[in-house]
Amino acid sequence: MNELRRKRARPESRSAPKSANLRSARTPLPAEGAALAIAPASFKGPGAIGAKEIGALQRLVGNGGTTQLLSDGRRPYGDSPLGLFGNAARNRPVGAVQRGVVQRHLPGVLAKLAEDLTKVRAALGAYDTADPTNGNLLEYINKHVTDINALPGMVTILDSKPKLIEQLAIDMAARAEPPTAVNASHTASATDEVMNKGGGGFTAKDGTVYMLESTKDSSALYHELIHVLSGEGGVTQLSVTKTNLNEGFTNYFAEQLARKYGKTVYTAYPVATTWVNDFVAKCTENTAYNIYFKNNEALLYSTLAGRLKTKVQAAKTVFDKPESKALKESNGVKRTDLGAFYTGATIKDDAVLAAAVKKKIQEAYFMDAGEPSIAWLKRLCIDD
Ligand SMILES: [Zn+2]
Repeated sequence: MNELRRKRARPESRSAPKSANLRSARTPLPAEGAALAIAPASFKGPGAIGAKEIGALQRLVGNGGTTQLLSDGRRPYGDSPLGLFGNAARNRPVGAVQRGVVQRHLPGVLAKLAEDLTKVRAALGAYDTADPTNGNLLEYINKHVTDINALPGMVTILDSKPKLIEQLAIDMAARAEPPTAVNASHTASATDEVMNKGGGGFTAKDGTVYMLESTKDSSALYHELIHVLSGEGGVTQLSVTKTNLNEGFTNYFAEQLARKYGKTVYTAYPVATTWVNDFVAKCTENTAYNIYFKNNEALLYSTLAGRLKTKVQAAKTVFDKPESKALKESNGVKRTDLGAFYTGATIKDDAVLAAAVKKKIQEAYFMDAGEPSIAWLKRLCIDD
């Protein structure tokens, strides 16, 4: 029951009025029907991924919104058309239905929630992580997660799947373009999500979280609340560049908190989460905090570029030795890599190295550990 769950990136409505919406309007992704129509024809297996498939995949993954539908623990797509992505299939981030605005609170209540959230986010952002002795980071994050969890209207726990279906259908209808009353198609989609695809919760357009009782005391709840804490509607700079990596940071902190506080951990975004785990192991949790909660995307690239620089400089020193003439690789750095980072004997500027790292992050999907861009990052930036 607790082993798997799925989250789905959901596009935001292009026409969503921001005043009634904690989430920023985002580039819409294909409607779910379109996405599902593409997938079976295009995705034949790992060996079959070509530019066309990658393009289709990129559209599916997109850089869309972060509203999520969680799993209640059942494997949602045993025979997913995207099963080629192995473990990632359970987290199939296919662009889903177009969603608009939903207003479940009285206006005054929503404004108060937004105001309270803003305060908590400001407190989080003010945390000085330059000083590694500055308290316990996870406790600090947990305190704020607890704070927002206690906000009236922030989280609604539902004790049955029919109730979740009902709420999800309302959300789908409200997010339609234009918003409509709930109809049979919304109910059918919502039923499919919850009953067949393992959906166990979602974050509504107004920022509130709806969850099944069965997932409320777990990393799944942390995950959603951390999204809400990371930015208005869960939108961070990184989420715009690479949704899945943003999910990896979200889920990294969700899992860390769940483990620390003895909650159930549901696997989610396994490749992205593992990547962030590896990043933290080498670059510290404080750095991850600053990137994610302080919205400092550039720090991700500069941090990795710093490691890249150290590594290629060490390799160049080795390659330059007369006795190394036949050596093709040193500590993961290939002799042929040097041209990308050196101009003659001078290593390129930090900004150029950071741009090279950013390009690899942008090229990666964080869905399959075997992706070439992930291998590049591991070889040149993560591995010691
Ligand atoms: Zn998420």
